Amino acid sequence: MIKFLDLQKITQKYSVEIHKAVSGVINSGWYLTGAENQKFETSYAQFIGTKYCIGVANGLDALRLILRAYIEMGIMQAGDEIIVPANTFIASILAITDNGLIPALVEPDINTYQIDDSKIEEAITPRTKGIMIVHLYGQCAYTDKIGEICNRHDLKLIEDNAQAHGCKFNGISTGSLGDAAGHSFYPGKNLGAFGDAGAVTTNDEKLAEMVRILANYGSSHKYIFEYQGLNSRLDEIQAAILGVKLQHLNEDNERRKEIAKFYIENIKNPAVITPKVNDWNANVFHIFPVRCRQRDDLQQYLAENGIQTLIHYPVPPHKQACYKEWNLLSLPVTEQIHLEELSLAISPVLTNEEAEMVVRFVNSFR
Ligand SMILES: *Cc1c(COP(=O)(O)O)cnc(C)c1O
Repeated sequence: MIKFLDLQKITQKYSVEIHKAVSGVINSGWYLTGAENQKFETSYAQFIGTKYCIGVANGLDALRLILRAYIEMGIMQAGDEIIVPANTFIASILAITDNGLIPALVEPDINTYQIDDSKIEEAITPRTKGIMIVHLYGQCAYTDKIGEICNRHDLKLIEDNAQAHGCKFNGISTGSLGDAAGHSFYPGKNLGAFGDAGAVTTNDEKLAEMVRILANYGSSHKYIFEYQGLNSRLDEIQAAILGVKLQHLNEDNERRKEIAKFYIENIKNPAVITPKVNDWNANVFHIFPVRCRQRDDLQQYLAENGIQTLIHYPVPPHKQACYKEWNLLSLPVTEQIHLEELSLAISPVLTNEEAEMVVRFVNSFR
């Protein structure tokens, strides 16, 4: 059977180094906000190309904390609007509504699956305070036009970089393109921990300070509380593991790209649409999405032949029960993607033979 994602195999690749790093933390007797956090924050900030990195508990918290910090700083307030792609993973939107802010859902482009920058300006109102772009599937969502819109309307640009560690726009890493970025190190992400983990990156010193305070109960001095904060910490064991895996992230991403190239060149089934890639540096293929009108049949056919696939995602946010108020909205591009998308296996440990088998069965599907 070809697994969609073989995490056990990914871990085995770096097993010796990881065991050593974890033992180091266990033996140190120091388990939260210590040397490993500092080390990882420094190396991840360097990797992304920002001045600051704050390790937090998960990706959702990273995004929540950025928006909460802007609220505490007086830059945003409850009822303000944040533009966000309608086809994102729910966490991007939860981070907005959790802060009493209002998401303005904007349709993606059907060819790139990224927010359609030609539809952003019509969504701007006097209450719009920011744009949250999501580098979905590992592909860069930033465009010069988005940067220009943010400047012209004085909007904060927040990046959801949960799926795109190592992705670059004209040589600049996603996660450093906007005012602040949230990163997730959920185990299945390109840079994955052994549990939940996340980070905020930014060049804004005040924002970095505020995020750090809010993530630590709203306290900058022990037992003195200036804000009603939360507890959102990256633990030392996860930081140590991430430090090891970060050193291999670029080579892991290169392997993903090799597989993506192979899929794009060899999938010849006219019923299956592969992603269009304009810039191979601007995609780290967290997901390899294809589209097919008979998506469910294709998924079943592949499963019958021992090939696991997943759907990212089966139900769009505006059709979810948690956002009943949007259930009647019509977002046709988003809805089409959710009906047609199928994710093929792609990972640093997928073998050539496995990739060939995936191609063979995708091509023989009728
Ligand atoms: C995974 C993910 C998140 C949330 O990260 P967690 O660490 O699971 O909280 C946010 N946005 C996107 C696009 C994601 O894929």
